[in-house]
Amino acid sequence: MMQETEEEDVELVGGGRRGPSSLGISSDSKGLKRGLLSFAGIIIALNIIVFTLGVKYSQEYTPPPTPEPVDNESKPASFRLSPLVRPLHYIMQVDPDMNAFTFTVRENIMIEITNSSTRDIILHARELQVSDVLLHTQNGTTIAPSSVSYYTPDEFVIFHFGKNLTNLLVDQTLFNITFVCSGQIGDIARGFYRSSYMENEEKKWLAVTDFEPADARSAFVCFDEPSFKATFTMSVSADASEGWFAISNMNEVSITPRHYSTNGSADGYQVHHFATSPLMSTYLVCYVVSRFGHVTYNGGSVPVRVFAPPLVVEQGRFAAETGSKIVDAFGDYFDIPYVMPKLDMIALPDFTSGAMENWGLITYRIEALLWNPNTSSLASKQSIAMIISHELAHQWFGNLVTMGWWDNVWLNEGFASFVEYQGVDLVYPSWNIWSQFIPMDRSVAMDLDSLHSSHPLVVPILSADVITQQFDSISYSKGASVLRMLRDKMEKQSQGSFVKGIHHYLTKREYGNAESTQLWADIVEETGQTDVTGFMKSWTEQVGYPVVNASLGDDGKIHLSQRRFLYTSSPTNETQLWNVPLTIQKRDDFVSQAYDEEHTEIIDDGSWAVLNVNGSGYYRVSYDQALLDRIIAQWEEDHLVFSDETRSSLLSDSFALNLAQSVPIEYPLSLVKNMKGERDYVPWWTTLGSLGGLRPFVDEQRFYETFQRFISATLRDTVDHLTFTESEDSDESHSTRLLRPVALTSAISAGDERTINEGYRLFEAKKQGRPTNTSSALNPAIYAAAASKSNEMDYKWMKDAYLKETSATEKNVLLAALCKFGRHEHVGQIQSTLQDALNPDIIKPKDMQSTLVNIARSSRDGRTKTWEFIERNFDLLKAKFGDAPFVMDGIIKRVTSLFSTSEDKKRISDFLNNSGFSKGSRSIIQALEQIDINRKWREKNVESLEKWLDQWAESHPEK
Ligand SMILES: [Zn+2]
Repeated sequence: MMQETEEEDVELVGGGRRGPSSLGISSDSKGLKRGLLSFAGIIIALNIIVFTLGVKYSQEYTPPPTPEPVDNESKPASFRLSPLVRPLHYIMQVDPDMNAFTFTVRENIMIEITNSSTRDIILHARELQVSDVLLHTQNGTTIAPSSVSYYTPDEFVIFHFGKNLTNLLVDQTLFNITFVCSGQIGDIARGFYRSSYMENEEKKWLAVTDFEPADARSAFVCFDEPSFKATFTMSVSADASEGWFAISNMNEVSITPRHYSTNGSADGYQVHHFATSPLMSTYLVCYVVSRFGHVTYNGGSVPVRVFAPPLVVEQGRFAAETGSKIVDAFGDYFDIPYVMPKLDMIALPDFTSGAMENWGLITYRIEALLWNPNTSSLASKQSIAMIISHELAHQWFGNLVTMGWWDNVWLNEGFASFVEYQGVDLVYPSWNIWSQFIPMDRSVAMDLDSLHSSHPLVVPILSADVITQQFDSISYSKGASVLRMLRDKMEKQSQGSFVKGIHHYLTKREYGNAESTQLWADIVEETGQTDVTGFMKSWTEQVGYPVVNASLGDDGKIHLSQRRFLYTSSPTNETQLWNVPLTIQKRDDFVSQAYDEEHTEIIDDGSWAVLNVNGSGYYRVSYDQALLDRIIAQWEEDHLVFSDETRSSLLSDSFALNLAQSVPIEYPLSLVKNMKGERDYVPWWTTLGSLGGLRPFVDEQRFYETFQRFISATLRDTVDHLTFTESEDSDESHSTRLLRPVALTSAISAGDERTINEGYRLFEAKKQGRPTNTSSALNPAIYAAAASKSNEMDYKWMKDAYLKETSATEKNVLLAALCKFGRHEHVGQIQSTLQDALNPDIIKPKDMQSTLVNIARSSRDGRTKTWEFIERNFDLLKAKFGDAPFVMDGIIKRVTSLFSTSEDKKRISDFLNNSGFSKGSRSIIQALEQIDINRKWREKNVESLEKWLDQWAESHPEK
């Protein structure tokens, strides 16, 4: 899946994602073949049983009985299901009631039991009522359980058959288990839930599923672990007389009237029957009941449909075409065609993450899929293409081959986060999308991975409630970064070897599960590059990453040594070493080598030397003053000898080293002040993100105005060059067109009067409906100019525009701007926006996180008021997001990361530890560590920053 998109001050594109594989049972090829072979036999047996059940259901359509007793005393042996009882095939009919918002599911699961002493059958169920349980043998014998109980801590339902089952196991292993379960279609966006949208001032509903990682169990009783792959034959009913219809993972094969009333007559509902799926995990099952419209793109190898509320469905055309092109591009790239017969994508008004890769039916938050050519920007177009590419990558990485267990979730998410660039690059080569990797993924990963409380890519998961913690920047962005490093290393040895290895892995493991070690083994088997396994071990099994220290010796050599990079000082017993792929760029030379020792050295020829070219390796580089002086001299003379990725990487390292107290603030600032003439989006992104990140730590200081003036002076030349004028048909590069709104918005955040006035002039024209000749891509800057003045009338106009807006991407731009209002004496605007966040009719719950984070980042008042709001409404927020850690963790970590004093830390720590929110959880520990890092930065840097700025101000007097 894809996490919610980051909304930085500089309106960046892309951002986070979220996503899941191995019990270690079925991943060997023997187990896999057995599963496939027995499938042919299942269909015949099931046909008979389905018929029998059909008759049975038509006679009794009664509400389910009250649940059986909870028995939390008898703790099962493990929180994991036994691999000796496994599903082969599910037949399910889902009956949602869209008036009462309840559902009933009639299930028939073919299971195989290979432990002959089995007495109980255990499956997952959460908040479901289960009834009519029967076990059927292949020769027609039926037995009922003596009792059914629930063990709620592990979300188990236990069917107790006792000796009756053991007796049957003497001469058979295949059974069908049938039952009925029912539950509520809730408002919390997980499991089977409801969502709403407005159509001609009328509220319309739909019901949709979102199961990853462990929520399928709240919609139907199942073996809810990723290695229990089975085939699914689904049917879903919907009231056709009211315009409802259903879609699911597979293509529809027929529609029949439903006969559930007691006299056997039809009830106006239609049952949509879908083709049987390939072997897949439960977290990928999806079904939706709605009255949406759709657009179709038939120009590729499979039909692609985009579903959305009827009034905005035309905005799905870009996604349909892009989806079709990327899915075919991936098919060619991996040399394995997409296996499903169709691809559906659906835009949802309520959705927790960014998107979810359900096989054949991908779900998206609405602004991650719909693009309006009249009002949406190039940045949102790129962001949509990237999210689509990420989810389509999962159709291979995750869906076709799935991690065996959630400890290897990075295999799914790291791969999708890496390959999404490939998909977009194949379809939109002029975007040069790979160049954005450093700020979009590598820096994000390193930021989290620089904490003591980070974790290795592969972590043992010892209880179900920590699964969701795995869906963080380590699994996504570090996963992607180490794969990029591996690709670059392999391609140097032999071109095309990386994708050859991947093809082999995907073909060998298709419809099965895998672990990291198997991926490396498959790559080695195919390519003969035997060092891959050891190389990747050092990056996936160890926590953190190294900094390589480069220093000039008296012996004419540059000495290199490595140690773990941490924002706070390293522990003394640090002995970790990584296998570092070294690349060096010199004035007329390019060298590459690898080293895994603590120390190594290279010859010094008097030239500047930049290590880790293009930031390809997942490590930072720290230079001593002598080497640094050479690089800065070259940078001042002509920084374009370094690629945009190298420039971005140098900038990113310099700020990180300063945060870690390894270099003084003068170092990053000496690079930044020489950015005049920089026209590339990527280095600016890194710089503006880093400078903006320092704001909350200095906004109370006497020199804050000078700091702001320094940022706007740095941007001056770029802003004057770009201006507010962008003609739609100009031949400007993708990079320039992305840079313009970012540079303008950043200048406005830095208080640049000229840019604010020009932006505000355009805002007034917009307000009065006058034509402006500016592209809608510049709306973020124009609205930011208005927000910086915080006039009450403008705030009202903007809110009204937000409420009326029908384009989801433009709605987001307006909301982000509303979050910036409230400066100077207008704190009431901050309170008003915060209050609106609690009203789902104004701000959808899916936008809660970005709203709070954007307000907190907007100003000092925004930061304080947001934290007070979180404290005041904590229980309410918890109830709203159902303890959904994606949302709550995100809110806590991102808002608290803006605080930097001991008093802040004490207040936040006291509150969180008494809040009952997963006490001692990884996210709380990380949040508190971050505040400490911020505090130490202040203590060490504020004075020298002030001095540096005073000097700078002397040579740059205010005009
Ligand atoms: Zn994903």
